[in-house]
Amino acid sequence: MSAANSLKDRIMIQEHFAHEHLPSALNQSEIDSHKARIKFLLKEHDACLVSHYYTDAVVQEITEETGGCISDSLEMARFGSVRPEQTLVVAGVKFMGETAKILSPEKRILMPTLEATCSLDIGCPIDEFSDFCDQHPDHVVVVYANTSAAVKARADWVVTSSIAVQVVRHLEEQGKKIIWAPDQHLGNYVQKQTGIEMLMWHGSCIVHEEFQAKGILDLREIFPEAAILVHPESPASVIEIADVVGSTTQIIDAAARMPNKKFIVATDRGIFYKMQQAAPDKEFIAAPTGGSGATCRSCAHCPWMAMNGLQNIVSSLENYSNEVFVDEQLRVQAQMPLQRMLDFAKTLNV
Ligand code: SF4
Repeated sequence: MSAANSLKDRIMIQEHFAHEHLPSALNQSEIDSHKARIKFLLKEHDACLVSHYYTDAVVQEITEETGGCISDSLEMARFGSVRPEQTLVVAGVKFMGETAKILSPEKRILMPTLEATCSLDIGCPIDEFSDFCDQHPDHVVVVYANTSAAVKARADWVVTSSIAVQVVRHLEEQGKKIIWAPDQHLGNYVQKQTGIEMLMWHGSCIVHEEFQAKGILDLREIFPEAAILVHPESPASVIEIADVVGSTTQIIDAAARMPNKKFIVATDRGIFYKMQQAAPDKEFIAAPTGGSGATCRSCAHCPWMAMNGLQNIVSSLENYSNEVFVDEQLRVQAQMPLQRMLDFAKTLNV
């Protein structure tokens, strides 16, 4: 992806924010009444909630209270496909709803909003990406889960950050040359871990790329005992100073496992809800971001994840609105690389 494209993506993202609708703040009695309504509607519609770690705490709370799943995108995909309920309400961003539909075509997939997207998805449009792949027909195409159904359908493998390194090593053992898309920072991290050169697409996450090594190191001077936990969508300079680099689930596990009592966390602060549960006696501090000039307006919180709220969960269940559809031919093509990842993950016990 060229610099011009990168600029174009940023303009598109800014335009998107201009029209973005965040759920309004609720008082406690409104929260209670929305939660009660959701509990009733989930039962009535044979539905369950599947939510990402980056959604707001109140969304994660109702997900837990109703026996749903809060997880990373790999586990969200797996959970939805094995649940008996015929309707899944996916609280997250668009590619997560599409992934649920790809793996569970017989189910109705609803989302609180269809407006919630991802800068990685926006930055990897299918036509340009397909041309790029066509120019390198001898390469295996590996794409991150944060992509559209069409990009997944063009890929040989889909990966999440929790198994990207293992998949790339596995392909290298078979002598494959690899195209990696769309996250350049995760791609660079995988290259460093494996020593395997990949042809790279240059997308990025607007939340993680705002973390800055200097700000984190300044914070560690104040809290010298704190361990630094970093998601690999962050820039290389931030990854270099990390005590642990990992997917969301791996970051939560590290917080519970490590002896430190304080952690500086460079990923979306929505994750603090589960980290606090996993390690209730520990303290979590959000890593500083680029500040007021940064693209990310919400400081360590994804503006698209923030569009999920109790109000729009209620309305999607009441009206069956925001249903996710994926063209059947595309779905079948996209299912293959996704299923490959899930089968591979099983062999690793991930
Ligand atoms: S946090 Fe970044 S990668 Fe995750 S959905 Fe938001 S923009 Fe996409």
